[in-house]
Amino acid sequence: MPREVILMTQKIKCTVDQCVYNAMDRCEASSIEVCSCGCQDVKRSAETECKTFRDRNDQPSI
Ligand code: SF4
Repeated sequence: MPREVILMTQKIKCTVDQCVYNAMDRCEASSIEVCSCGCQDVKRSAETECKTFRDRNDQPSI
C-alpha cells in the first residue's frame, strides 16, 4: 500500500510532540507497539507506553 494511503487512513492521535513520528498531534509511524510499563496488572492508561517512541532530538548527526 502506498505510504500516502496509509497516512490518509491513520487514526492514531498522539500529543507527544517530542516523538519523531508525531506531526500535528497525529502519529505517522506505519505501525506502533504499545506495552505495559512493566506492571503485572494494568488498570490505567498511565501504566502503558508506546515502545515505538523515538526522541526527535536523537537523530544521527551527518
Ligand atoms: S510512535 Fe508513539 S509516541 Fe510517537 S507519535 Fe506515534 S503513538 Fe506517539
